[in-house]
Amino acid sequence: MVHGGAGPRAMTKAQWACLSEALVRGYELLEHGLPSLHAVEAAIRVLEASGLFNAGVGSRLQLDGVRRMDASIMEGSHLGAGAVAAIERVRHPISAARLVMEQTAHALLVGRAATTFARHFKLQSQPPPTRAQQCRAGARRPRGLSRHMLRLARDMAVRPRRKRRTDERETVGAVALDRTGCLAAGASTGGIGFMLPGRVGDSPLIGSGVYADDESGAVSMTGLGESIIRVAVAKEITDRLAWGSSPGRAAQVVLNKLVQRVKGQAGALVLSADGRFTIKHVTPRMAAGYWGGRGKPVVTDRFK
Ligand code: ASP
Repeated sequence: MVHGGAGPRAMTKAQWACLSEALVRGYELLEHGLPSLHAVEAAIRVLEASGLFNAGVGSRLQLDGVRRMDASIMEGSHLGAGAVAAIERVRHPISAARLVMEQTAHALLVGRAATTFARHFKLQSQPPPTRAQQCRAGARRPRGLSRHMLRLARDMAVRPRRKRRTDERETVGAVALDRTGCLAAGASTGGIGFMLPGRVGDSPLIGSGVYADDESGAVSMTGLGESIIRVAVAKEITDRLAWGSSPGRAAQVVLNKLVQRVKGQAGALVLSADGRFTIKHVTPRMAAGYWGGRGKPVVTDRFK
């Protein structure tokens, strides 16, 4: 399963095609017997490289005009997890997250040190944003903090829906189950519109934006990170799966809690250890899809 974000906008044809391509790419690897972790990384790399989503080369800029990205990946057999936050200049933050998981004893690297880490492993880079891109993002003073930025970021928190409409690109994520019964989940994002420099969302936070446990299920979230973090949504959904809820019920209960307790907005991919799944959102739309290898991939932007 893959997603290209939850929000108010309808998906474009190009996004539809790209999500389908990501599903096919991920499934090909599963079919060849590769682990779900590979499938999740590969599917997310397709979306990050496209420039059609708010991840990788399509990532939003923070208010100082810098592109800082977040990503995480988790596998369910040993609860292995890796993440990067506020990483810069990297084309595929999801691969940096996987390197953190597999090449270090840590779970999360942040900021310039995460960028240096990715360079050390020779991950592909992307060019810095152009001045025109910085202007479009409302960036006024590169690498500084101003009253203007603080006001914009506060407005974003109060009226997120209105501000989110300024960009049709959204976060990406994926979950997969392989033939050995191993689950994996991942997410990659450029964050939200009008964020203060240094803002980090739910996507790199294990248990908030992403979780995978072979004893329960895998979850990849999208939506307003500030709300998802406060409810620790991904872990709560997988806990409910472990207690016997169906994916649909678990996702609905936790998304309702998100709306009621913190006025949150989000969408979730949920896949249980026995292969049942759901896509649920409390936003008007969520671009997402699933494929089990037969027929054509199913991709749409409304799941109810
Ligand atoms: N969850 C992401 C964040 O808050 C944004 C999104 O999913 O649209 O950084």
